[in-house]
Amino acid sequence: MSRKKIVAGNWKMNTSLSEGIALANQLAASQPSDQPQLILIPPFTHLMTIKAITDGTMIAVGAQNCHQEAKGAFTGEISAQMLHSCGIPYVILGHSERRQYFHEDNHLLSKKVISALGQGLTPIFCVGEALDIRNAGHQNDFVFGQLREGLFHLSADDFSKVIIAYEPIWAIGTGVTASPQQAQDMHAYIRSQIDIQYGTDIATDLVILYGGSVKGSNAREIFAGADVDGALVGGASLDAEDFLRIAGGF
Ligand code: PEP
Repeated sequence: MSRKKIVAGNWKMNTSLSEGIALANQLAASQPSDQPQLILIPPFTHLMTIKAITDGTMIAVGAQNCHQEAKGAFTGEISAQMLHSCGIPYVILGHSERRQYFHEDNHLLSKKVISALGQGLTPIFCVGEALDIRNAGHQNDFVFGQLREGLFHLSADDFSKVIIAYEPIWAIGTGVTASPQQAQDMHAYIRSQIDIQYGTDIATDLVILYGGSVKGSNAREIFAGADVDGALVGGASLDAEDFLRIAGGF
C-alpha cells in the first residue's frame, strides 16, 4: 500500500509576518524529502510570502478556510477561486474551531467542499467528536454523520481528491492526545465507511490524517497505526524543530 504521507501545520491565527517568514525559512532550509509531504497552512495574509519561500522546495502551502461562493459582497471573506488564482493547492475545511466559533455546519461545509474542488483545490476536511460524545461511546456515529452530510454528496471522482483529518475536539490544543489505538480505530472505521460508500479502491487510497496535540515526542507511535497517514498539527507546527521531528516520525 503506497498512500501518500502528509504532515500539515495549521498555524491558525498565529505569527506576525516576520515570524512566519522565519519559520518557513527554517523549514525550507532543512530540505525535507518528498515523504512525508509537508504542508504549511499560515494565515491568509502570509500565504503568498510563504509560498514564495517554499516554491522550488518539497514543501506545499495551504489555506485555513475559504468561502463557498466564488466572489461577491462578502466582506472579509476569501474564495476558493482566489486561492486557486494564487496557486494555493490545499484548503482546510470544517476545522472544529470554524464549526464552534463561526457556526459552520455540515450543510455549509458541503458547499465549501464543492467550491474548493471546483477550483482544483484539495480540501483537508476535518471531522471529530467532542468529549461528551466520546464518553457516551457515540464517536463513530457522530463522525459518520459529519462524513455523510459534509462529503457523501460528492461523486466518486471528486471524493477521491479529498483528504480527511480526524481531529477529536478533546485532543485539540489540550495536550491530551488520542491513544494510538483510539486514532487507529477511528481511522479504520472511517476507511470502512468510505469503502461502503465509494468502494475499496477509493477507500484504500484515501489519506486520513490524525490531529490533536501531535508532537515530536508522540508522532511515531501515532503514525504506527496502519490507517494513519500523517498529521494535521496545530501548536507544534509553530516550532520548526518539533514540526520536523513529527515528520521524522514515519
Ligand atoms: C489543530 O488545530 O488542527 C490541532 C490539531 O491543534 P493541536 O495540534 O495544537 O492540538
